[in-house]
Amino acid sequence: MQKLVIVLLVVFGGLTFTSAQNIQSPSEFLGYEIGTQFSRHHQVVDYYKSVANTLPNQVKLEEYGKTNERRSLFLAYISSEANIKNLETIRENNLKNTGILEGTPTSTDIAIVWLSYNVHGNEASSTEASMLTLYKLLTERKDLLENTVVIIDPCINPDGRDRYVNWYNETASQPYDIDRKASEHNEPWPGGRPNHYLFDLNRDWAWATQVETQTRLEVYNKWMPHIHVDFHEQGINEPYYFAPAAEPFHEIISDWQRDFQTEIGKNHAKHFDAEGWLFFTRERFDLFYPSYGDTYPTYMGAIGMTYEQGGHGMAGLGILNDEGHVLTLIERLTHHTTAGLSTVEIASKNAKQLNIEFAKFFNNSNLKYKSYVVKGNADKLKSLKVLLNKHDITFENSNASKVTGYNYATGQQGSMSITSDAMVVHTNQPKGKMVKVLFEPNAKLTDSLTYDITAWSVPYAYGLDAIASSTKVSSSKLMERKALQTLTDTYGYVSKWNSLEDAQFLAELLKENFRVRFTEKPFTSAGNKFERGSLIITKGDNQHIEKFVAKLNTIAQNHVQPLTQINTGFSQKTPDIGSPDIKLVNKQKIAVLSGKGTSSLSYGEIWHFFEQQLNYPITSINTDNFSRTNLDKFNVLIIPNGYYGSVLTDDNMKKLKDWARSGGKVIAIDGALRSFAGKDGFSLKVKDSEDDEKKENLTAYADRERENSNNFITGAIFKTKVDKTHPMAFGYGDDYFTLKLGTSAYSLLESGYNVAHLDNAKVYSGFAGKEALKNLDQTLVFGEERMGSGSFIYMVDNTLFRSFWENGKLFLVNSIFFVNNNAYEL
Ligand SMILES: [Zn+2]
Repeated sequence: MQKLVIVLLVVFGGLTFTSAQNIQSPSEFLGYEIGTQFSRHHQVVDYYKSVANTLPNQVKLEEYGKTNERRSLFLAYISSEANIKNLETIRENNLKNTGILEGTPTSTDIAIVWLSYNVHGNEASSTEASMLTLYKLLTERKDLLENTVVIIDPCINPDGRDRYVNWYNETASQPYDIDRKASEHNEPWPGGRPNHYLFDLNRDWAWATQVETQTRLEVYNKWMPHIHVDFHEQGINEPYYFAPAAEPFHEIISDWQRDFQTEIGKNHAKHFDAEGWLFFTRERFDLFYPSYGDTYPTYMGAIGMTYEQGGHGMAGLGILNDEGHVLTLIERLTHHTTAGLSTVEIASKNAKQLNIEFAKFFNNSNLKYKSYVVKGNADKLKSLKVLLNKHDITFENSNASKVTGYNYATGQQGSMSITSDAMVVHTNQPKGKMVKVLFEPNAKLTDSLTYDITAWSVPYAYGLDAIASSTKVSSSKLMERKALQTLTDTYGYVSKWNSLEDAQFLAELLKENFRVRFTEKPFTSAGNKFERGSLIITKGDNQHIEKFVAKLNTIAQNHVQPLTQINTGFSQKTPDIGSPDIKLVNKQKIAVLSGKGTSSLSYGEIWHFFEQQLNYPITSINTDNFSRTNLDKFNVLIIPNGYYGSVLTDDNMKKLKDWARSGGKVIAIDGALRSFAGKDGFSLKVKDSEDDEKKENLTAYADRERENSNNFITGAIFKTKVDKTHPMAFGYGDDYFTLKLGTSAYSLLESGYNVAHLDNAKVYSGFAGKEALKNLDQTLVFGEERMGSGSFIYMVDNTLFRSFWENGKLFLVNSIFFVNNNAYEL
């Protein structure tokens, strides 16, 4: 029966008006006027399926992944029948046009426009708009599809969006209440903006730490669209924002990309003017940090843009704004629909030119640095390769023995000797501009007023030595890593300790009830020197494990973890294996604060780290329940970034200190340190800036914002001095590059351990205002202070920020398993 219907559609499609007459509008399908209710994700999926079933020759759906909560991530490909029939050829032609695929394209006159909706779950109008946009493209504006392939991602973040929509649906009055004090306009913690693990997916494009991003990038890189739009919402008093974007623009953005943003903006203005709608351009939303839905596509050659409608999680179905206007969902989605259609319209008008200019972007012969050479720990190199693979960036092994250029470790010109396992990444490859963006030691900032962090250079983030070379470094195809040796029955096995992979190996051993030791002092055995933190697994310790050697071998192979076999506990250089300096790693029961007061981002980073990266269990304790929680069941309490004024009351503070005195360990991150600084019993102190004397400020009103930037640090990279003998720093060297996110400064601990500190506040990468820098010399970065038999561990810089600063993660693991390693039973 179905076949017959399709045949009839094909036959009659050309004869009658159009087959598009048969598709239902969103309102017809959903059973309510679009914009009068929020549609849940399954309804959105059903609408797209219904349209694709009705017009299979013009709409193809592709599920590209599932979210953490098992919702469908999918794309709709929309075009003319001829183009849809030819879809794979169009895709290949596009990649050939850029050099990503070899060969000559058979034609390049089709524009490819990718529209991404609702990356922030509570900016919920745009997914509704996506349905109306789909419908209008297939009915009123199907002329545009003759030379355009439109790819619609109706919802990048369905978990977050459904969190918002379900909450709104259960909270809102009928009819909706426009008073902004009403519950329906005030979302509870954590809000619908982030994904399941509370990550902001619009900060995740470059790092791809989240499953939504990882699966999306696989399809994105197969297609490489010419235009990408990320639909958002801003505050209820702002009207509408569209391209062109604000300064700073990253320097690799081409003149064509800038100019065409203006063309697009003017086309939108024409449609908005016709309706008398307000909008603004060229302000606020810049193009610099590479992990957004506008910058990432831009650095991949597209015209990448953010559109912002007034609304956001506050707006609901209708709200009275400051200008006395009732802003409705209908209005919000209508604006987004208009901007989306206008984007396709201007793309269609310029399809040929878009292809020509797109191809030019991929010529990378003029970049200053020709090769980035990176060396260091094999695990860290491996995790950098994982990142590069996500972006289809190629890399090779070095043939040179010495390279010269900009040395990341010193921040100066210099040279570095290398062996064949050093990694070389050339910029003369199709993704060369993204290589530059990710690797360059210091991105050129044309304006200090930016929306986000200004430094992210990956050699620093991954803890690797690197040289940026302005001549091409000789290299050859990558060698495979050697297979691991199979373990044989002997006295014990030693593992190095300096990467997250080592920590994952430890976590699995603990899960399987292995007894593992770690050394607090270097020792030599079997001719090898083992550094502090090395793990020792002896047969004697593990007699409770059946088939111990075979099981250890399996775990080591799974983790590609090389182990050194030792046949005696008598070390060539002490300590011996039975020494008090070689201690058992005690399993730790870890609690983490969540809920009101905690930064949902920081909590989410911790949650994701333990659940998805370390694979070690944690218990989340809501701040509302903190006073009722028996802490004696835990060894470690992690307090994420946040504001704990109402949580850490006098009673709760006493409870925390008593628990610490009896052996508990508190790990405080970033803003959580404020709860302890200057408080009774703590040596942690805020370092106040010295020139606090009041100056009469004669800065003009118009210049205040810029003047203020002297006091900012917007994500800049500094070199810290490390006490590598402290267990928190096991696995690190004398220096560690840290990403500083703000100006918070704490004095060095007088009674406690300064594990990492800023000696002099030289900026290696990124922007730091001159006033802010003055206060940073001799300040704490990581430290520990003892209280009774327990500890407070301070992490001034959040090493889990957006989960991309790979090299900082071991500090947290060390804090849990090695620092003040109490052996008490629960
Ligand atoms: Zn947004």
